[in-house]
Amino acid sequence: MPTDKNDLRQKLRARRRTLSAEEQKLAASRVASNVTGSRLFLASRRIACYLPNDGEIDTHRILARIRRMRKVCYLPVLSRLSHDRLWFARMETDTDLAPNRFGILEPVVPARDLVRAQNLDLILMPLVGFDDHGHRLGMGGGYYDRSLEFLRHRSCWRKPQLLGIAYDFQRVNGLTADPWDIPLTGVVTDQAVYFFD
Ligand code: ADP
Ligand code: MG
Repeated sequence: MPTDKNDLRQKLRARRRTLSAEEQKLAASRVASNVTGSRLFLASRRIACYLPNDGEIDTHRILARIRRMRKVCYLPVLSRLSHDRLWFARMETDTDLAPNRFGILEPVVPARDLVRAQNLDLILMPLVGFDDHGHRLGMGGGYYDRSLEFLRHRSCWRKPQLLGIAYDFQRVNGLTADPWDIPLTGVVTDQAVYFFD
């Protein structure tokens, strides 16, 4: 794996950790308004989100809004990986959560209740960095890339839209995309909403 990707990950994650609780709260509130006011969000019914880890933007307001608008909310599940691809489970107010091997909380549900990314309309995903072409730098596991690999095949007809969620300072110049990297539809930050094509 190229070390410049890793150096950049370390740098951006360190910056994210320096934010005060107040700054985090304000950004989360702005991001939530930007996400839930977007046309993409309003038009989507089955929406996957995430629970924050490693200083990622808090999503509780977004989750609450998905529920209040009677959309269907999903969270990624790593614990039942097959071929390193993510499954998604419905998240309701009474859904039991347990930490996965990265310490991230995920729904505890029977296997029959898990769905694939193909079944979703919109995926809101955390990221470490992004650029003006929609390239996404993740934590380095490549989980979203593998789970969304089907988007590279021209024949696929169900396409979830992919929105990154980030602080505006996570926008960097010219990330080098690897052949397996799946580009984002857009990124919502505390300052702006970016769309790429
Ligand atoms: P991230 O997207 O989390 O920033 P990378 O894009 O660097 O991480 O991917 C991490 C690893 O995952 C890569 O070294 C690559 O080998 C693997 N990977 C990602 N997508 C695929 C795929 N579609 N098929 C096989 N391996 C993949
Ligand atoms: Mg990648």
